Amino acid sequence: MEQTLSIIKPDAVQKNVIGEIISRFEQNGLRIAAMKRIQLSKREAEGFYYVHKDRPFFDSLTTFMTEGPIVVMVLEGEDAIAKNRAIMGATNPENAEPGTIRKDFAESIERNAVHGSDSAESAAFEILFFFAGMEIR
Ligand code: ATP
Ligand code: MG
Repeated sequence: MEQTLSIIKPDAVQKNVIGEIISRFEQNGLRIAAMKRIQLSKREAEGFYYVHKDRPFFDSLTTFMTEGPIVVMVLEGEDAIAKNRAIMGATNPENAEPGTIRKDFAESIERNAVHGSDSAESAAFEILFFFAGMEIR
């Protein structure tokens, strides 16, 4: 069993599609092992997306991530990291496959509805960033 971190980003929370997005994870065999709805500060968003600190979109991305509440989850299942990325679709919704979350809910390459860890190392960092061990069951 593998765990990965998922975020429903502020654009999708604002659209009132939390339930529809969570259903896709459940329908594809992922289990929610932890979940909370929070709003990030700018400093927290910068800490979370630290790997992108030198990218031209860093300031815009971290401002977007603070504009409203997000839902943060630990998803668990076989190949959870890759499976979640497949369910999400490509970063740019214009390139996302039909039936993926980003194809159906994303507005743009930045306002793209969801985040998912991209490796075992980033999943470990990202889960610890948001959750204490006793919050994951
Ligand atoms: P995430 O890490 O959020 O799951 P990802 O792994 O598909 O997405 P990354 O390359 O890690 O994509 O980029 C992180 C986030 O930064 C993207 O999800 C998107 O919100 C934003 N982003 C990426 N590229 C751009 C860009 N060219 N312009 C604006 N925002 C971007
Ligand atoms: Mg990424």
